[in-house]
Amino acid sequence: MKKLPSVAYFCMEYALDTEMRTYAGGLGILAGDYLKGAKEYNYPIAGIGINWKQGYSDQVIGADNKPYDAYHNYKYDFLKDTGVKVTVKIRQRDVVCKVWLVDKYDNAPIYLLDTDLPENEDAWITGQLYGWFGEERIAQEMVLGIGGVKALRALGIETDIYHFNEGHALFAGFELIREKMDRGLTFKDALKKTKEEIVFTTHTPIIQGNESHYIDRLMYMGANCGLTIEQLIEIGGSPFNMTVGGLRLSKISNGVAQLHKDTANKMWKNVEGKSDIIGITNAIHLKTWVDERMLKAAEDFNIDEDSKNNIWNAHMFNKEALIEFVYERNGVKLDKDKLLIGFSRRAAPYKRSNLIFSDKEIIEPLLKAGKIQIVFSGKAHPLDDTGKEIVENIVKMSKIYPNSVVFLENYDMTIGKMLTRGSDIWLNNPRRPLEASGTSGMKAAMNGVINCSILDGWWPEACEDGVNGWQFGDGFESEDFKELDEHDKDALYKVLLEKVIPTYYDNREKWINMMVASINSTKKYFSVERMLKEYYELMYQK
Ligand SMILES: *Cc1c(COP(=O)(O)O)cnc(C)c1O
Repeated sequence: MKKLPSVAYFCMEYALDTEMRTYAGGLGILAGDYLKGAKEYNYPIAGIGINWKQGYSDQVIGADNKPYDAYHNYKYDFLKDTGVKVTVKIRQRDVVCKVWLVDKYDNAPIYLLDTDLPENEDAWITGQLYGWFGEERIAQEMVLGIGGVKALRALGIETDIYHFNEGHALFAGFELIREKMDRGLTFKDALKKTKEEIVFTTHTPIIQGNESHYIDRLMYMGANCGLTIEQLIEIGGSPFNMTVGGLRLSKISNGVAQLHKDTANKMWKNVEGKSDIIGITNAIHLKTWVDERMLKAAEDFNIDEDSKNNIWNAHMFNKEALIEFVYERNGVKLDKDKLLIGFSRRAAPYKRSNLIFSDKEIIEPLLKAGKIQIVFSGKAHPLDDTGKEIVENIVKMSKIYPNSVVFLENYDMTIGKMLTRGSDIWLNNPRRPLEASGTSGMKAAMNGVINCSILDGWWPEACEDGVNGWQFGDGFESEDFKELDEHDKDALYKVLLEKVIPTYYDNREKWINMMVASINSTKKYFSVERMLKEYYELMYQK
């Protein structure tokens, strides 16, 4: 058999465990699960990332119901010192990057670069994940990309494929070109050869989420690695768009779900010279997120009467654990016999965390009677005032309906895990098609927590309506957000009132059958094992 290509996986964030604050959200969750999967299924992959001193914001709710950001310095004593240091020239100054190894979480090796050293004037570069924009962000991306390639060389890790998970690592491509030009290749030949080594994953379908930088700023920072202005423009345009650069510097690219592949192809159709964008749907690391007892109970469901009860009992165990967790955190005691809806998402407008509150006349009686209980969580981006208002509004709702609405502050992996195990329903209502994939719904599905979601991201690939979960909105799209929100709100209430609530209270047998179908229909396809196989077959080995 041919040897598998060795892959260096570049990502700005890794979510491996709650204690390690080197992540903000879904991108990091994907990367963490990917590297754990690489270890479990024996793939030659090494991760490259940054040892963020303060990680992402700790976001807590103040007495005025508003979210506030707090930053703490974290030091992880379990990181292994590789003894390797590399230097990146940033703004004409040498910045030393120390290379740490993370291998604590049954993960393939992840190397984290760190500029917080006494010899650095610019020690603060690796201070805050997504902390700043402009020059500071470019400096961070130079450490990840250029420092990352240098670290691979210094560590002696042979690399066949460089996988940029999102555009942040793009400067690694410049460094790879520079290396070849130093060996005497022309720009054209170096570019061609480099393209054969790079694969690129794009994530965000929101235009503003696709970072760009002024060319003169890239030059001033030294991010160009010796390339000329014209050469930079050839790769990423002007201003230089990191996603466009990724599409042009790679042999192949991918979106993170099949629907997202279509969205990305539409979005970038005018980019000449881009690589093909295929779809590889995200997946999760089961051992991290899924309760073994639920998998087993779903598998053995049809053996006898006892086995039929097992799945409900295992679910109730997780639901009670969540109820206890909520009580410890917020002092609210939810009712285990009432329907519990989980919703945790970054508070971005397109995710519409407040959609369920749109019509007071419909939702208030349900909340007052305790027919439904909703547990929310999710951070707003520290600089996003609209996102912060969304959080504030949910917190206010939790004050108005204290027994049926809860907001858990400072969303992290622990909350994610508790909610995707202990809820009855996992609600998701983004504006289609703006959710690239979503992985929290997969965690829920495999734990027997029934998805009730707009047909966006991964859900169109999994949903058998009324069998393993529910869809609502029928895939409706409109650029008129008012029209779209109105449409989806009606659809949400309809599915809640006509399907979810009656099934939960009046047809427990059907509910349990849906739980079983949810687990059995998703656990294989949405496992990181399938995803890794596809990345190898469709991208790395192509
Ligand atoms: C799973 C998870 C995510 C990603 O979930 P989405 O479905 O993309 O919202 C983000 N943050 C945490 C803490 C998670 O556990």
